[in-house]
Amino acid sequence: MSKSYDVCVVGGGMVGAAQAALLSRAGYDVALLEANRPAEFNPEDEVGLRVSAISAGSRAILEQAGAWKCIQKQRYCAYREMHVEEQGSNRGLDFLADEFGRDALGYIIENQLVQSCLWKSIEAAGEVDIYSPDSLSKLEQHAGGVSVTLASGKSLECKVLAASDGALSSVRKMVGIDQQVWEYNERGLVAVITTEEPNPGIAWQRFLSGGPLALLPLSDGRSSIVWTQSDTDARRRVGLPETEFLAELSDACRNVFGRVVAVSERASFPLRTRISEHFLDGRVVLLGDAAHAVHPLAGQGVNLGFLDAAALTESLLAADEHSLDRALRHYARWRRSDSVLMTRGFHAIHELFALPGQISSKIRQIGMRITNKSWFTKDRLLLHAAGQHSDAPRLAKGETLREIMRS
Ligand SMILES: Cc1cc2nc3c(=O)[nH]c(=O)nc-3n(C[C@H](O)[C@H](O)[C@H](O)COP(=O)(O)OP(=O)(O)OC[C@H]3O[C@@H](n4cnc5c(N)ncnc54)[C@H](O)[C@@H]3O)c2cc1C
Repeated sequence: MSKSYDVCVVGGGMVGAAQAALLSRAGYDVALLEANRPAEFNPEDEVGLRVSAISAGSRAILEQAGAWKCIQKQRYCAYREMHVEEQGSNRGLDFLADEFGRDALGYIIENQLVQSCLWKSIEAAGEVDIYSPDSLSKLEQHAGGVSVTLASGKSLECKVLAASDGALSSVRKMVGIDQQVWEYNERGLVAVITTEEPNPGIAWQRFLSGGPLALLPLSDGRSSIVWTQSDTDARRRVGLPETEFLAELSDACRNVFGRVVAVSERASFPLRTRISEHFLDGRVVLLGDAAHAVHPLAGQGVNLGFLDAAALTESLLAADEHSLDRALRHYARWRRSDSVLMTRGFHAIHELFALPGQISSKIRQIGMRITNKSWFTKDRLLLHAAGQHSDAPRLAKGETLREIMRS
């Protein structure tokens, strides 16, 4: 006997968990399938290697998903300043929260904490049926929705299936949605570092000839780094003896907060840009990395995913039984056009900074200087980075679920 749901969310990473929390709080019957049940966050543990720069819009969405208070009680770092420069010049682009009337430009938070707080919110409400550890092994679409078979043999009936099963999404493959993929042969090297002086709360990024290096502030004065570099360099640097690694990193970040004196374990992840040809097939919708994956140079990957979750919630709330298909098409058009713009934009920035030679470098530096002087351009850039531009979902702009349900 199959159990029936309004929405089955496949993949309970940060994006899928946010989607399940928002939809159940909006009154839908939701099932959440996750292959690996996340471990509970332990504040005694060392800071995780995977962190995200969470935007103001994402914070508003996490508040409505019931996860923000839990995050606030643990550890995170609000940053009020952002600096971007290119090797060869320490002048570049500066953003100050105060200048734009913002409390913060964003928040550096461990991925595991975000996911764990979302799961806590879901579990505390007790409204979502969780199937974990379990995974989707088969799906069949029909006029009224999607029939799903799980690896455990259980079967579910879903009016809508929301696939948030990551960049290698098996749901996307099952329904045959193609992707455009840009390969860079690059990896993002991640680690936690200690500098002579504490990071004073600046998200700092320097474009080097091999790729950007970001130092993101943590609550204890250390920085989390994301260092983009060629596949070969990343593999070599992950294995370097500590003293040699510290010397190379100190040089790469021009000792911005003094010398780098300690580093945690290191890891690296392959970097690609991906955009799905469609975000919808029948009653199957894609969101998060299953729909699009962007280069981390702008720290926007999961933020785009949270916008997807908010947009799908709003699209469904605006529909009834008869207009469900129209609402899904609306979601897919809305989020794909924004995601195409963002993926192409980040890809273009990546290519622009990869252009070799003095002339290209001079042009980039002049461009940054001009942008730095334009309050209007910087304000527009910040609105987009915050996920609060005119076309952003209402939840990201601070409206509550209750307000949206009432309207
Ligand atoms: C080095 C690096 C730095 C980054 N920094 C930032 C940043 O600063 N800011 C930012 O916004 N983004 C950043 N990103 C991107 C961000 O990490 C991703 O966009 C985000 O983790 C994607 O979340 P997701 O929930 O969509 O997918 P995932 O985290 O991949 O979650 C997918 C989930 O689905 C589950 N799953 C898969 N298949 C199945 C199945 N068949 N059945 C059931 N469950 C399944 C998996 O177990 C997993 O839990 C960075 C990425 C990298 C590589």
